[in-house]
Amino acid sequence: MLNIVLFGPPGAGKGTQSQKLIDKYNLIHLSTGDLLRSEIAAGTALGLEAKKLMDNGLLVPDEVVIGMIENKVKENPHAAGFIFDGFPRTVPQAQGLDKLLQDNGTEISCMIALKVDDEELTKRLLLRGQTSGRPDDQNEELIRKRVEEYNTKTRPVADYYAGQGKFCAVEGIGEIEDIFQALCKQIDSLKEKQEEKK
Ligand code: ADP
Repeated sequence: MLNIVLFGPPGAGKGTQSQKLIDKYNLIHLSTGDLLRSEIAAGTALGLEAKKLMDNGLLVPDEVVIGMIENKVKENPHAAGFIFDGFPRTVPQAQGLDKLLQDNGTEISCMIALKVDDEELTKRLLLRGQTSGRPDDQNEELIRKRVEEYNTKTRPVADYYAGQGKFCAVEGIGEIEDIFQALCKQIDSLKEKQEEKK
């Protein structure tokens, strides 16, 4: 299986690139942000709780997102692989994901980070806020809070995968197509290594 964690701060382009990657590699896209927004739209108890935190730029509790991901992984036993987008965002989430995948006889193949600087991120998020209607993208203070959460809680997740020899990064600024090609190059070399092991 090809299980990729697409990593990067809010606004790095994870959603855009995930869409392209799932088409090319026939993977299932699991975005905790999207899953949480559909819970909110459906007005579930989980959605109501999550909304309070999301509206303040804060992370939703680890158990909540791990539970959502677990359901989705179990719903797709025959998948060729998954792209995890916006998850894991904390080290405990990464540990939870490792355990979950292990219980399902698989593992993370690689984390690929999209490198984008803070200034470009704020610009992109405010622009997205104008069209997407996402409340967390319309306020500069809230964006800063999310980037702060990312810097303190999420950045260490990269070290977690680096420690397992499963981390790589590509430049996240430039043409969408060029960034996509850089990601494909990483994934293709990963697939080759998987083939060699067989
Ligand atoms: P972005 O990548 O632009 O921050 P997302 O759609 O991934 O957007 O996430 C939006 C919000 O949803 C986050 O700011 C956070 O409140 C919540 N969220 C999403 N994924 C997680 C997660 N894995 N753990 C905790 N909270 C999450």
